[in-house]
Order: sequence, then structure tokens, then C-alpha cells
Amino acid sequence: MNPKGEIGARVRVSVTVAGLSLEEYVEKVKAFHGYAAPGMILGGFMVDVALKHLPENTLYDAICETPKCLPDAIQLLTPCTLGNGWLHIVNLGKFALSLYEKRRGEGVRVFVSPSKLEGFPVLWNWFMKKGPKEERDLGRLVEAICEVGPSVICHQRVQVQEKFLKGRRHRGFAICPRCKESYPADDGPVCLGCQGQAPYEEPLGSNPKRHYGIEED
Ligand code: ZN
Repeated sequence: MNPKGEIGARVRVSVTVAGLSLEEYVEKVKAFHGYAAPGMILGGFMVDVALKHLPENTLYDAICETPKCLPDAIQLLTPCTLGNGWLHIVNLGKFALSLYEKRRGEGVRVFVSPSKLEGFPVLWNWFMKKGPKEERDLGRLVEAICEVGPSVICHQRVQVQEKFLKGRRHRGFAICPRCKESYPADDGPVCLGCQGQAPYEEPLGSNPKRHYGIEED
């Protein structure tokens, strides 16, 4: 077993990950993520493929189609972070990402091709979440990912929807008539929370302050 995902001596991949050697990238992943997470290693190759298909000097944003692991690869290797608003999570539950020109939306989407994983049972079982997680040999998995490198990654041209582009007009903020908090006016007549998208159990009724346990001063 190799619980920390150390890369074995037999792995010699002459690929780079966004300008870093594979070994440098894996060290960065460990420092950032605590261990060599397989999803981040594969994600590094994906970011690298996407970057190579963007025209040089493109000012880009990123869309990540899963909130797990892959956003950290994007944040580690590109200027796009959740905090600066250049990384958007659209949770489709898919291990895929796009980098796109931030004003016009022309971009490249990269994803893992399942058919290309079929010849690699260790990768296939991990990617398709087969079998118990505890029985997975992380070291073997990371080695397998490093060995296949970018060969299992596909890319396609995409045009990103306008709502993800910079420079679109915002109508500013408004006060939600139901919860009395401020929200982006583009979201509709009431805030997204009051439209049912709040992640809390209590439904918002006629007195949302009571539902949220807010005490009036
Ligand atoms: Zn509201």
C-alpha cells in the first residue's frame, strides 16, 4: 500500500503540467491538498491540455463542472480562483472543465474519455467509482494516471453562454421584498434564496427572519 500516493521510481513521464515538471506539480499538489489526490493529478493534465488549445495571451476564465478536486487543479495552475471570480463552478457532476476568453466566451472544454480508460482497469474503477474506496491503492492509481498522462483527455471547442462573460451589464443590487436582504437584481423579483435555492431546511415563509432565527434589534 502507498497511502500518501508517492510516485514510484518506475514512473518516468516526460510531460509537463502547465510549465511545471510532473514531479514539481505533484509536490505542489501535496502542499496544497495534503496528499497527491488522483483527481488533482489528472486535473493538472486537463488544465495543461486546455491551456495548449487556447490562443496565446488569451485572458481567460474557467468553468469547472464538478466541485470536487478539479477546482483545486485550476486554482493551482491558473490565475482563476473562486475568490477572484474567474473560476465558475457549474455542478454537472462531470469531471470536465473549460477555459474561455472572458469577454467573448470562445473556449476549449476538456474531459476524460471513458473509452480511453477501458484498457486501464485501475483507472476505470476509480473513475467510475467501482468497488470500495478503502481498497483502492492510491499510489498505484497515481502512478497509473502519471503513466497515461494526457492520452485519456479529449478536448472540444465551446462557446460559453453570455451569463458567464465579463462586461455584461449588471442592473446592480436590490433589496429582496421577502427577506429584506440585498441581492443581484438580475436574479428576479425576489432573491435566489427566496426562490427556493437556499440550502437550509426551513422553508422561507411570510416571516423569514423567524425561520432563520434572526433576532430583531
Ligand atoms: Zn430573499
